[in-house]
Amino acid sequence: MQIIDTHIHFSNIHSFADTASQISQVDYNLEGLRKGQAEQGIAAAIAMGLTETEPGSFPDDQAATPMILDLDRRLPDNLYCCPGINPYDLSRRPAALAELALVLEQARTVGIKLYAGYYPFPISDPVFDPVYRLAAEMELPVVVHGGVTYSPKGLLRYAHPLSFEETIAAHPELTFVIAHMGEPWGMDTAALMSKHPHVHADLSGLLVTDAATIRRKATQLEERIRLRQPLLFEERPDRWLFGSDWPLAPLGAYLAFIKELVPEDWHQMVFRTNALRVFSRLNRFMPQR
Ligand SMILES: [Zn+2]
Repeated sequence: MQIIDTHIHFSNIHSFADTASQISQVDYNLEGLRKGQAEQGIAAAIAMGLTETEPGSFPDDQAATPMILDLDRRLPDNLYCCPGINPYDLSRRPAALAELALVLEQARTVGIKLYAGYYPFPISDPVFDPVYRLAAEMELPVVVHGGVTYSPKGLLRYAHPLSFEETIAAHPELTFVIAHMGEPWGMDTAALMSKHPHVHADLSGLLVTDAATIRRKATQLEERIRLRQPLLFEERPDRWLFGSDWPLAPLGAYLAFIKELVPEDWHQMVFRTNALRVFSRLNRFMPQR
């Protein structure tokens, strides 16, 4: 199976580069990505657009919307993008929306990313209304950061999956992806998924660490039970997506960890076909199987 990784990063963010070199032991560059993907049979990846204007300023209120991929000017052919929204910039700079629309029209844009919690705005804030309108017009899914933030600047209450419900209910025309299954609120995410058919979740970022620690965590029964419960609640194999959050975890160990977590007869869907359905622009570039 040609795996699709629906959540990675490919942006010049100081704290990501730091984590890659100090914690996850990942080469956070184009060659490191190519090598890791080739070793693990990952055919394509979707990177969540993000930028910072000063090293260490992520989440940066000065970053221009849309936030894009700026780790390397050479973008690999198998890399797709969900440009990121900075609500501060969107609310104060009239040109931001038109610039976002232009990037959304690009063929390799496959969704939109909201950094809920990182930016202290509820996703129901009216600043996002034009973003939802564009997402509907262009039939693009909206990926929302869910759960703990990888920055002390974040506010968790805006990243709690249940805080998304009013927006989800108000936009049945949209497809939502809750990132990191809202960790540690996976059961809340599963409850949202059971109630709202247009909600999906990705399995990225459940562990941000090195390969040895991932292998050790994989043997902890309590953790396995906790992380499997949301998957098994109402058993919706069509709603879960594989993502690695590379470079915050090494691809090989993380992929093995998620393969063990996900029931084997769901693998085709979780590691590939759900991604082709949710991020439907991928179909322009990729075979169905
Ligand atoms: Zn991420």
